[in-house]
Parts: sequence; structure tokens; C-alpha cells
Amino acid sequence: MAISVVKSHIWSSYLSFLLHIFAASLLLLTTCASAQAFSEVGSEDVDSGRNNLYSEILRDEAVARLNELGKVSDADSYLERTFMSAASLRAANLICGWMEDAGLTTWIDRMGNLHGRFEGMDPSAGTLLIGSHLDTVVDAGIFDGSLGIISALSALKVLKTTGMLGKLKRPVEVIAFSDEEGVRFQSTFLGSAAIAGILPVSALQISDKGGVTVQESLKEHSIEITEESLLQLKYDPKSVWGYVEVHIEQGPLLEWVGFPLGVVKGIAGQTRLKVLVKGSQGHAGTVPMALRKDPMAAAAELIILLERLCKNPKDFLSYDGQCNDSTIESLSSSLVCTVGEISTWPSASNVIPGQVTFTVDIRAMNDMGREAVIYELSKQIYQICDRRSVSCIIERKHDANAVVCDSELSSQLKFAANAALKRMTGEIQDEVPTLMSGAGHDAMAISRLTKVGMLFVRCRGGISHSPAEHVLDDDVWAAGLAILAFLETHL
Ligand SMILES: [Zn+2]
Repeated sequence: MAISVVKSHIWSSYLSFLLHIFAASLLLLTTCASAQAFSEVGSEDVDSGRNNLYSEILRDEAVARLNELGKVSDADSYLERTFMSAASLRAANLICGWMEDAGLTTWIDRMGNLHGRFEGMDPSAGTLLIGSHLDTVVDAGIFDGSLGIISALSALKVLKTTGMLGKLKRPVEVIAFSDEEGVRFQSTFLGSAAIAGILPVSALQISDKGGVTVQESLKEHSIEITEESLLQLKYDPKSVWGYVEVHIEQGPLLEWVGFPLGVVKGIAGQTRLKVLVKGSQGHAGTVPMALRKDPMAAAAELIILLERLCKNPKDFLSYDGQCNDSTIESLSSSLVCTVGEISTWPSASNVIPGQVTFTVDIRAMNDMGREAVIYELSKQIYQICDRRSVSCIIERKHDANAVVCDSELSSQLKFAANAALKRMTGEIQDEVPTLMSGAGHDAMAISRLTKVGMLFVRCRGGISHSPAEHVLDDDVWAAGLAILAFLETHL
């Protein structure tokens, strides 16, 4: 578990790179299928659990549940669960049984979110929410979303098994959100945004490819939602203590530094642009180079400009006019920019294109810095297009501000993660790393309701949104132990 000197050095240099409710009327489902393969833990298991840190529950059973849930799919040959699909409901039913197995009271709300709650010693105290999403992308891995739900339920089951659940000082509620990936309706966070109270009522009328609206998709499963009842889904901020989410990292850093767990400092803000470059369409054999207005060559120059700017923002942004030192420093450590989609018209090998369109995805922890990058990028794009006599149109398609995780909650998670790793290895080691999340998560939406904290779990090769996604069994165990250690601070 201890990292090598070389890795420590790499890590420290990389660290410098990195550092930079309750709607009671909505009880639609209170019981679920109760036949659970792993629901019974006898006294013998409890005794051995004390010795082996509950590996039967936190590792073996959690891994078995991840595998079982990973088989619940709308497709035969790959994993796909979208909002309100038949497989989503089967998955919710399965998780519901696991929630009851952990001693929680369950229900599904009007946006299809599954809740499991334990009131604790003081039901009027602020609720600790723990959650992640039960939907998946197309051809997904089995850990994205599911790991956060299952590790929380495993930790609560340990408390139930040891008789400590009733000693929780405050209510704890696990939420399996119905939609985070946004595959079916192209709209992310339907579930968590509803609970945070930031989902516009117009979202109910968004249609999927088959013309079925969000509202109709819920009604198909006897869940009636109106604009009024959507607004009632919002939790009262005063009733909530905070929100914690465990999630696979979906990147390679934890594997690189040799840690199973990491604490998330924040979630990057994001802007998506669409750039349209129009030139003069023509014959590839007859138009001399000097007379061309080629949007493809212009787009190539623009994409290289983006890469240069995002690799070295300090070379492009002026300190006085656009950014201060800390903004530049934050950009240097967190700015990532991608052109992921490009299309040309008419897209033929013997034609100078008339038009090229490409997307730009810009993410950074510092929102002002991201704005400065967009300003500088746009200015230089127009200059290049002018020089090349092509026209450029930049459309801003999406914006989301960065979310900074609560520092106290992050410290508590760090303490819990360190304690978990120490319990597993029996040795004192370097502190778990802190990293930022380049991907969006439910915590982003819930941050509009309450303070949030996140724990990342190492995944093999940093691969996610793929059937190759993999988390070691012992890392699943570490995640469960960390959440258990965190819950123990609420006893
Ligand atoms: Zn996810």
C-alpha cells in the first residue's frame, strides 16, 4: 500500500499540479421484493466480521451485489439502464431490497428516485444524505453510480449488524438517483436536480427519441407528476445536514499514485461551444492554393490554438486585464479542453469543404479563469478567421459553474478514508490524495441544496463508461470501510 519514493516524488509534483424533505406525501413504494441472497448475517458472521473488518459485507457481498446489479439491463449483450426503463425499475426493486436489508424505510418519489432512510436518535436533526445514480450510459460498466449506492448500504448494514444503527445521532438517507447520465432525455440530473429544487418544470415536457415525455415515462409506471408535485420534491435545506457521494474516479490518477481512495476537492465548471467555420466550397483539383477560403485548414489552426492556450494559459492571458495570479495558477492545474466532434460539408475527398463545424469542451475549477479562456479563445478565433477570409460563428451551448466541496466535510471524509486504509493495512501511510473531478456528478446538483463532499475510488486504467470499467474487490472494501468510518463520526 505504501507508495515508493519515486512515486511520492511524482505524486508531490503532481499534487502541486492538482492543487491548484422530505415530501412525505410521496411514499409510493414502501415495500419491495424481499428475497435477498445475502440478507441474513448470523452471529457467527458478526464475530468473524469484528476480526476481518466486515469483509463479508463490505467486500464479498458488495462485490456480489455490484455484479448482480450489473446484469440488470435493458439490452441483452451489454449494460444499459435509462430513466424509467424496465431495467431501471428492476434495478430499483433490487436496491430497495438491499435498503430494507440494511434496516432502512424505503420509497420511490415522483421523479423515480429510490430513497432508503433511517431516522436515528433525533429525527428532527439535519439529515445526512448519501447517494449516487442507478441509471447508466449505453454499454456501461457496472461500477459507475452503483458503487456509491452499494457501498453506503453495506456500511449501514454493518451498523445494523453490530447493533449501532439505532445510535446514529441524525437521520441518514441513501438516495439512488433515477437519472444522472441523461441518456434517454439528453438532460442530466433529472433525479438529483428535482430534489435540489433546480429542475425547471419545463423538464417534464422533454421528449425522448420516441416522442415520450418525462412526465409520460413516469406515468407509464403509475407515477403521476405535475408541475406542482415536482416543486414539492425539493428538500428543505434546513432539514438536510449535508451530502456525501462515493464514485469511481473515472480517471487514472489514483491508480497512478497507488491509492485506492481519494478526496474530491471540487467538480470542474464546464462550457460547451459549437464553432461553425464557413469558407468557399470548390473543386480540389482546380482552385489554386492562394485563392482558397478553406474552412478545414482554418478549423485545424483553431483546434491547435485551443490546445496551445489550454496547455499554457499563462502565455495567453494577461494578469492585469483578465486574471490574477491565483486564477492563472488554478487554470494551470485544472484547465482541460477538448474538441470531440467535428463534421464537414459536403465531406468528400475531392471537394474543398464549404463548412466545418466542431465542438469545444472547456473545464476548469476556476469559473472566472474559464471565462477568461473563452474570451481569449473567441478573440483569437475571429482574428484567425479574418486572416483566412472565412467566417466564424461561436455558439455557447452549455455552461455549468464549478462546485467546491465543503472543506470540513472533505476533512471528515479524508480522516475516514485514512482510518479505513489504516485498518486494512495496519500501517500508517501517506494521507489519501485530494483531487478534482473533471466529470459531473449528482453532487453538482445537490450542492445547490446543501454542503457536499465526495470520495473517489480507484478504477483500473482510469477507464469508465465502458464494460472494461473495473474496481478491485479490496477497493470496494476500502470504500465501504471509509463510509463506515464516516458514519461512525455520526454515532
Ligand atoms: Zn456516474
